Amino acid sequence: MPTVPEVDPAALHRALFDAAADAILVVDGEGRIVLANPACSRVLGYSNTALLGMAVDRLVPKRFGAHARHRATFAARPGARPMGRGMGLVALRDDGVELAVDISLAPVLVEGRRWTVCSLRDLQGRSTETLRIQSTALRSAANGVVITDRTGLIVWVNRAACQITGYAEAELVGQHTRLLKSGTHDPFFYRELWETVSRGDTWSGTIVNRRKDGTHYHEEQTIAPVLDETGAVSHYIAIKQDVSARMQDQAALAAANAELGQRLLEIESLNRQLREQSLRDPLTGLHNRRYFDETIVREASRAVRYREPLVVLSLDIDHFKQVNDTHGHAGGDRVLRGLAGVLSAGVRTSDLLCRMGGEEFIAVMPGAALSVALKRAEEWRAAVEALEFQEGGASLRCTVSIGVATLRTGVETIDGTLRRADAALYEAKREGRNRVVCAEGQAGTFAP
Ligand code: GH3
Ligand code: MG
Ligand code: MG
Repeated sequence: MPTVPEVDPAALHRALFDAAADAILVVDGEGRIVLANPACSRVLGYSNTALLGMAVDRLVPKRFGAHARHRATFAARPGARPMGRGMGLVALRDDGVELAVDISLAPVLVEGRRWTVCSLRDLQGRSTETLRIQSTALRSAANGVVITDRTGLIVWVNRAACQITGYAEAELVGQHTRLLKSGTHDPFFYRELWETVSRGDTWSGTIVNRRKDGTHYHEEQTIAPVLDETGAVSHYIAIKQDVSARMQDQAALAAANAELGQRLLEIESLNRQLREQSLRDPLTGLHNRRYFDETIVREASRAVRYREPLVVLSLDIDHFKQVNDTHGHAGGDRVLRGLAGVLSAGVRTSDLLCRMGGEEFIAVMPGAALSVALKRAEEWRAAVEALEFQEGGASLRCTVSIGVATLRTGVETIDGTLRRADAALYEAKREGRNRVVCAEGQAGTFAP
């Protein structure tokens, strides 16, 4: 048999009363509280001393005015009454807040007198705690939170919403959200927003709003409707974030990108100019040897592929050293520029005309028949011979020798053709200069 330790039952009863989680009150026949356990002050807010002697009716909201009568009825026909959940019972705390409670009443007879033991169970305790935590979270959230009624009147704002808009809480609550309208969006924008939320959907987007000081800001907003138990919208909750700084950063970035794009275009254009310059001879403006080297192989393979003729003319000024000796370097340069002018006037855009260095030039005529090229060479020779420059009061004349060769497809590479054109040029020099010599024997030699 288990032994029950000896203990004073009265002390245990007392401990039970003190430790109970429910608020337990003992009320006398007149409705005065004569005993209250410690849970009473936690649940009801009153101190124990305030409760003792207090009319129990004060714990009932005034709108239940008939309570005193109910109590009288109960006293007349006492019986244990658990008054359970779902009956919507409330108790009034000392701070005026109504508290959902379960109440059970039990009449007791002690020392010949009737008392009522009244036990209140706080039904809200936990949900109130959750609400308190959630509302603290909303209050201190970094995002602005604005709650409106279903007409758009602001009923609650948090600190962040005040910071974003520049308005104090009291200036926002009671106002319609149109207070923040910037005028930037057309009516259609707002209509679409209201249509979305009023049919119970969540709206998300960026709105340009106006702060109290009149400045505009970009706000990312999510507006969620709150539905009542019938499914109708009762409130809207707007969560806001000022994204102006981000928008400004993006705009600055876009501007920087555009600027960079412009710079890149300029650099590309400069690069093109530089490359063009690097391929040109500054004195005559003709293409240089580098351009010739880059181009000639392509021209040759094209000629081979399309079975077209490719004629090379190698040209050298006669006794140019004498021109320099007699008229100075400037005189020589003037002759070089004059010759370039004559040659340029007589080429097609598809022709390649380069100053290879000194007073040596090469012309390549893709697609031109040898006879056409020889005719052109002779025209050049004659035109140069006819040129007369004035240099330092003296008259200056000169002549050119030209060697001509055509690409022998399948027999030689373009280097071979160039070598044969050079050989023809030297032959022209040897034969007395101021003449055109063709490497292809059958075409003959032009000479004055
Ligand atoms: P030839 O009839 O045999 O060709 O005689 P040439 O005097 O023209 O012979 P050569 O090729 O030996 O002389 C070329 C001269 O061209 C030598 C050089 O002083 C001159 N020369 C080379 N480049 C330039 C230049 O850019 N400007 C000027 N003024 N003279 C140059
Ligand atoms: Mg020469
Ligand atoms: Mg020379």
